[in-house]
Amino acid sequence: MARKVAVIPGDGIGPEVVDSALRVLDSLGLDLEYVVVDAGMDRWRREGVPIAEEDIDMIGECDALLKGPISTPVGRGGYRSVNVLLRRRFGLYANIRFFRSNPHSLHRDFDIVFFRENTEGLYSGAEMRPSRGVAIGLRIITEDGSLRLLRRAFEYARRTGRRRVTVVHKANIFRETCGLFLESARRIAGEYPDIEVEYGIVDSTAYRLVREPGRFDVIATTNMFGDILTDVLAGVVGSIGLVPSVNLGDGFAMFEAIHGAAPDIAGRGVANPIGLVLSAAEMLDYLGYGDGAEAVRRAVDKVLTQKGFLTPDLGGCGTTELLTRGIILALEG
Ligand code: NAD
Repeated sequence: MARKVAVIPGDGIGPEVVDSALRVLDSLGLDLEYVVVDAGMDRWRREGVPIAEEDIDMIGECDALLKGPISTPVGRGGYRSVNVLLRRRFGLYANIRFFRSNPHSLHRDFDIVFFRENTEGLYSGAEMRPSRGVAIGLRIITEDGSLRLLRRAFEYARRTGRRRVTVVHKANIFRETCGLFLESARRIAGEYPDIEVEYGIVDSTAYRLVREPGRFDVIATTNMFGDILTDVLAGVVGSIGLVPSVNLGDGFAMFEAIHGAAPDIAGRGVANPIGLVLSAAEMLDYLGYGDGAEAVRRAVDKVLTQKGFLTPDLGGCGTTELLTRGIILALEG
């Protein structure tokens, strides 16, 4: 039976990289059916909503969602973030991001899987201006939210034969919020005596990630720390255009590259599609097409060694189209 995949092309470079990922998927000849959903800034401008309720229901009826980036404008224009909405609606509490070294990375031989809590922390949206010149944002951390994210991270480490989980926090300053996250981590670590656990303060971890990423294995942290640290790590990998992710809940999963809509290069045909192509590979694993997923990863590895195919973010003169064709050629070869 065909697996049904909802697809959001998104904003900016979104449609360009989504087109690339779908062509790579098509070249595998799998039984996938796509349900394309219009969401993002264009729809908001046209209809006053960035996504319709019926579309969210339709996505929920699919087996997975493959999503291009969606812009969230800065300011108070009444626009609600589609990304935050989808994470909340489908309970996608774990954002798992994959960082593997390649010939363009700042360091050799690292392979880090990063678990970022995806629904709480400073991104809970609880902000206010109680008086003129004063703004307050609430950092909400719950025990349940922390436990389920950390359990996912430790379980993943055990299932995939990884040795260590690094729990990142700032409990010396955020004694209550990071304190609760840390207590939760100690509890979960106790359930996984076979996995080594270490605890790292967020700022020194940022430094160590840039200096010696090979020391890390699985990392778990709260929402905003994870958001920032993973963009730093993307720089270490070589380009933000290379990094795939999955947003995972207990009953649904959304796959997307970690980069945004990149308005500065949108429409120029030079976006690196690899982050979304590798996210599509993660989706294939999730849907039970493990062989296809591995084939896509091997094809990407091969293309990354061939300068003629590479986009400008990797120092090449190639285009999204050329890189896509390179991946498909490598798949066929
Ligand atoms: P960005 O990731 O879009 O861009 C940062 C820099 O990286 C830019 O110089 C851009 O050209 C480059 N870049 C990004 N993706 C690339 C790719 N695939 N190939 C080559 N270069 C690439 O971050 P931003 O500029 O802060 O955000 C732009 C918009 O995207 C904002 O509206 C933001 O809200 C949105 N955004 C969406 C998501 C998402 O949908 N998950 C994530 C992050 C940002």
